[in-house]
Amino acid sequence: MGRLIVASNRTAAPGEDRAGGLAVAVWDALAERGGVWFGWSGAVVAQESRGLRIFAVGAVDFALADLTGAEHAGFYLGYANRALWPVFHYRVDLAEFDDAAFDTYAAVNRRFGRLLHGLLRRDDTVWIHDYQFLLLGQELRNHGWQGRVGFFLHIPWPAPEVLAALPQHARLARGLAECDLIGFQTRRDVGNFTRYMVEQHGAEALPDGRLRVFGRTLRAAAFPIGIDADDVMRMAESTEARAAAHRLGRIIENRALVIGVDRMDYSKGLPQRLQAFGRLLDEHEGLHGRVNLLQIAPPSRETVDAYRDLREELDRLTGRINGDYSDLDWTPIRYLARGYPREMLAGLYRLARVGLVTPLHDGMNLVAKEYVAAQDPADPGVLILSHFAGAAEAMDAALLVNPHDITGTADAIRRALEMPADERLDRWQVLNAGVHQNDVAAWRRSFLAALDGMTEAVP
Ligand code: ADP
Repeated sequence: MGRLIVASNRTAAPGEDRAGGLAVAVWDALAERGGVWFGWSGAVVAQESRGLRIFAVGAVDFALADLTGAEHAGFYLGYANRALWPVFHYRVDLAEFDDAAFDTYAAVNRRFGRLLHGLLRRDDTVWIHDYQFLLLGQELRNHGWQGRVGFFLHIPWPAPEVLAALPQHARLARGLAECDLIGFQTRRDVGNFTRYMVEQHGAEALPDGRLRVFGRTLRAAAFPIGIDADDVMRMAESTEARAAAHRLGRIIENRALVIGVDRMDYSKGLPQRLQAFGRLLDEHEGLHGRVNLLQIAPPSRETVDAYRDLREELDRLTGRINGDYSDLDWTPIRYLARGYPREMLAGLYRLARVGLVTPLHDGMNLVAKEYVAAQDPADPGVLILSHFAGAAEAMDAALLVNPHDITGTADAIRRALEMPADERLDRWQVLNAGVHQNDVAAWRRSFLAALDGMTEAVP
């Protein structure tokens, strides 16, 4: 079997965050069969140095390219984060459609495609990740590459009516169709993609489940990503986890803890979540002084403009609710605009009676799975999960909510707080079994098995 060549915007090269489950999964896949991890170095440089930096770490070769300042602005901060991210998360209202940014996006895919092609050997398998590289497969084909190309989209594929708002959607779809296997997080995404290809580009669904479009035959399928559940379980029992739980436990005493952990992003439904918690307190005086919401949400530096309004709204909502309800010895919402190490988070998940995961749209949402894996098997908490998180498709033993329905979410929190121990246990056992069975190792194995099982690229 040939080498595996992974292309992703960020890699787990030394100095990058290698702790995440995805990094570990890709690392394991590369280490298992030997291969190359290709991507952006993370450096933004002057025009001069535009080659690849290649080095080995164990069995894995890294091949990293820098971005120039203009590329970083147009490709990454611009088209990827200000056009693709919002549209694919159903926020056309926040998208900036800038032709020049798209040109830079296409140019970076072209340059990276040329660099990547230079690394390939005849029987290699290429696995491209995510929305930064929708055109990379096509660039490889332009250089004559006929070997297998797989693509996995980590974010949702939106409904065709939403995607059609993106001025360059057809160009992107044409480029993506050069991949042989296109993996999505959910069956809903596969359905949206298929309907988009049929309605917009006259795709024909073949009897074997593949799609014939743009003169090519490709397969689209769902490969829901998982976490390293054993690792999270271990982390939840670590010294750091216990210390974090102890620190917070001293403050909240015997009050029930509701926890939310998210990057501060408009896709996460944070204002609606705070409103739902406020509604809970409005309607249930008996809960005053008896429940705390801990919301951890570090701002992401890269989207300064987009999150400024969000940050202000969260500050305002927290201030209002805490102002209305705090007492001498109780502050209902602890809102921490910073990140914490994974071990500490695992300890806080375990302490929390309720995990509140209510994005407006989310490719998968790994926090939902981490919350489940971190629970104490003898006394697990309750997961409240948005219908619009990819995770909901396989986690219907959670309390599923519509995050736009503030009253419904408040009711779900109350129900979770009051849930009898045997129902909590029943629901958690189902969820936990799924999280362990469909972990991140199973995800990468199933994707690669599907890709390996495909015939050579059909010209
Ligand atoms: P996204 O990829 O959109 O950020 P996910 O929930 O799928 O959302 O993945 C987020 C990852 O980042 C999880 O592994 C989670 O533990 C971690 N994470 C999210 N928020 C924080 C935070 N406030 N501090 C530390 N880690 C976080």
